[in-house]
Amino acid sequence: RDGAAVAAHHVDVLRATVRGEVLGRDDAGYDEARRVWNGYFDRHPGLVVRCAGAADVMDTVKFAARHDIPLAVRGGGHSYPGHSTIDDGLILDLGRMKGLRIDPQRRVAIAEPGLLLAELDDEAYRFGLAVTAGQVSHTGIAGLTLGGGVGWLVRAHGLTLDNLIAADVVLANGELRRASAADDSDLYWAIRGGGGNFGVVTSFEYNLHPQGPCRTGAVVYHESAHASVVEGLDGFIRTAPDRFGLAVGFFDLGEGQTGIALQYVDSAPAEDSDALVDALAGFGTGALMRASDTMDYPKVQQLADAAMVHHRRYYTRSFMLPTLTDDALTMLLDGFKERQSPLVQVGLTLLGGQMARVPLEATAFPHRQEGYMVALLCAWEDEADDAANISWCRELFDRMRPFTPGNVYVNELFDEGEQRIVSAYGSSHYERLSQLKAKYDPDNLFRANQNIKPAAY
Ligand code: FAD
Repeated sequence: RDGAAVAAHHVDVLRATVRGEVLGRDDAGYDEARRVWNGYFDRHPGLVVRCAGAADVMDTVKFAARHDIPLAVRGGGHSYPGHSTIDDGLILDLGRMKGLRIDPQRRVAIAEPGLLLAELDDEAYRFGLAVTAGQVSHTGIAGLTLGGGVGWLVRAHGLTLDNLIAADVVLANGELRRASAADDSDLYWAIRGGGGNFGVVTSFEYNLHPQGPCRTGAVVYHESAHASVVEGLDGFIRTAPDRFGLAVGFFDLGEGQTGIALQYVDSAPAEDSDALVDALAGFGTGALMRASDTMDYPKVQQLADAAMVHHRRYYTRSFMLPTLTDDALTMLLDGFKERQSPLVQVGLTLLGGQMARVPLEATAFPHRQEGYMVALLCAWEDEADDAANISWCRELFDRMRPFTPGNVYVNELFDEGEQRIVSAYGSSHYERLSQLKAKYDPDNLFRANQNIKPAAY
């Protein structure tokens, strides 16, 4: 369904209704307002509504539904496949809604959907607290939470959505509904993994955890040590404490050589911290290099920011690995060497811990028992290099298929077709999500996303 086009008078009608800012194609600031993180998507909406509060969201949703105008909802604008921008339709932009209240007694944060991770992390940390979130501080809390939220604390405290106690949600009919275990348990279940399919969240309520400075660093092995790295990691992760977060990546050592980097964050350093890092650096004949530092948690959250700058062209494939084998690591390593841009990243994030202890049925997020989440992230500057980068990414993904059951984290899915969407939600969860979509959004107003089709649509 394409829906209707935005007409000139729509801008005036909305401007007279909402408290926030309404931008049409001819307004100053329109070009800035339509841009999203991924520069690969250069779309031209008919209008952008920068909502000032929940009432603006309600009116904008009703307006889009009444006039059948396609709607893209934007939190932090970091959707890899550009789902928070749209051609011709309306962008409902929540970026100005940045209210935040920390309740240190209850260890709870009440956060509006325009906040970025850096803003939430910084405020919470000043109370000695943190919510588990992603690894790049300019990501929006909204999209991240509704799809999952995998970061350095995922093993210690689970996904971000495992720490979501309640949310205010504007449904497709414009009604504001509270979702929590006590209030509307179907909606509460569906938004914890079902993304933006069920409504626009205008407030998130999170459980926080005590958080102090972290020990972080990396050990680097030469590529030739791949077999000992895999064997060593296999043993290491069996006993590593949940507070220990780990990611594996590759980087160029020069002269055609590649390094295998094991980056770690010990989120609650203790007596055994040194021994853990020594073990990580002692696989086979030992690491080539190691570096370690102690830093505040919000700083840890910013370590990857510069590698993920706004407005480059990005394309990605992602998948889960139940276990890391030498064959899988070698294939990723070989693939990395064939990359078409120096900005490409291939990364594996260790899962497990608290994330895996949450029962499968508790939330709509289906991938609880995976070993690693793998991302093949292409980044480049020039449109002329689109084809080379995209085919590199697709080909490496095809070669990796034998190692993965095909499961994918919804927030790392690109536009890859219906079957991959079902793999993202999991086939058993998809059916329930589709029933609930029919209950909350029968006309599929919220479809600029990894779309769940309403049952019998
Ligand atoms: P947006 O583009 O604004 O929104 C993404 C989707 O959510 C869209 O479909 C949108 O319509 C919907 N949406 C947004 N706000 C709302 C709302 N309030 N109510 C309903 N629907 C809404 N993920 C991780 O788990 N861990 C990471 O470490 C991580 N790192 C990342 C780093 C970068 C640089 C990027 C680009 C992404 C990263 N991601 C990570 C993926 C990230 O979780 C998703 O891209 C997420 O959707 C971003 O949320 P956003 O609000 O910024 O995005």
